[in-house]
Amino acid sequence: MKKLNVAIIGVTGSVGRQTVDVIKRNADRFDIQLITAHSNAVSLEQIGKELGAKRTILTKNGMGELLRAVDETELDVALVAAAGTDIIAVAYKLAQKGIKLALANKECIVSAGKFVMAAIKESGGMIIPVDSEHSALFQCMCGHRKEDIAGLVLTASGGAFRDLPKEALETVSIKDALTNPNWSMGQKITVDSATMMNKGLELIEARYLFDIEPNKLSVVIHPQSIVHSMVSYKDGAVLAQLGLPDMRVPIAYALGCGEERIDSGVKQLDFTQNMALTFSPPDID
Ligand code: NDP
Ligand code: MG
Repeated sequence: MKKLNVAIIGVTGSVGRQTVDVIKRNADRFDIQLITAHSNAVSLEQIGKELGAKRTILTKNGMGELLRAVDETELDVALVAAAGTDIIAVAYKLAQKGIKLALANKECIVSAGKFVMAAIKESGGMIIPVDSEHSALFQCMCGHRKEDIAGLVLTASGGAFRDLPKEALETVSIKDALTNPNWSMGQKITVDSATMMNKGLELIEARYLFDIEPNKLSVVIHPQSIVHSMVSYKDGAVLAQLGLPDMRVPIAYALGCGEERIDSGVKQLDFTQNMALTFSPPDID
């Protein structure tokens, strides 16, 4: 089996470190060509040693070195787990070169989705989303025709403040916002999850990733975070993707390039235990 040449952009973050875990479980499949952090040089070097990475780059002084490295390195897949919009130029270059984008970063698609998607279309590349909802949607769309889709339903845990009355939101703190009931994530996305801004970003992300009309997109509150999203079809069938809330599942799916399933280290759902799955409409107000 030929090993895949991989880059991990933003390897020191929450998604980055979970990617390292998945890579280590499948060490015989991947050659780590390139890893990056923004400023955390110590962790970058340490992870570089653990993975036997060929090249490590810090991006705090700009994207120039990383852009050159993308040009100089033969890559099959790039897992983009850097936070924020600075990484757009890199995502765009990867898209132009037709390198498979295992994309966790949603800011790229929200702010430059039109351009990134156009570059992918032109180069014949592909995006395999890592954001769990979009990974679920991608998986539920495989083997189906886009014109048969009735709607994409994104699930939302509701975040840390789901059950608080509106008045109580005036006195909550950042510390309160940083305790997500189901997912362990970086700070920005955890706060965005508490304010529900994250779900707004994810609707825009879905709109570009899947080139779907906005009126076919909806959100449902699902506090258990077991159903990661659903696709409904015009015949009334609804396909859902389920699993424990652990980012290593969509990371492993993306690293398998949508072609094969690899070990993620995540336990199976246990249907011998009682499990209640509930769904309710979001309180738009
Ligand atoms: P973290 O804050 O945990 O990690 C961010 C990573 O990006 C670190 O490696 C950091 O390097 C690097 N970084 C920070 N700023 C910059 C910058 N300006 N340019 C380049 N790299 C930078 O974030 P998360 O892992 O939580 O999230 C990463 C991305 O994935 C975000 O876009 C988020 O929305 C998305 N995402 C995350 C999920 C999660 O479960 N965490 C779920 C779905 C999507 P350093 O350590 O040196 O600062
Ligand atoms: Mg998500």
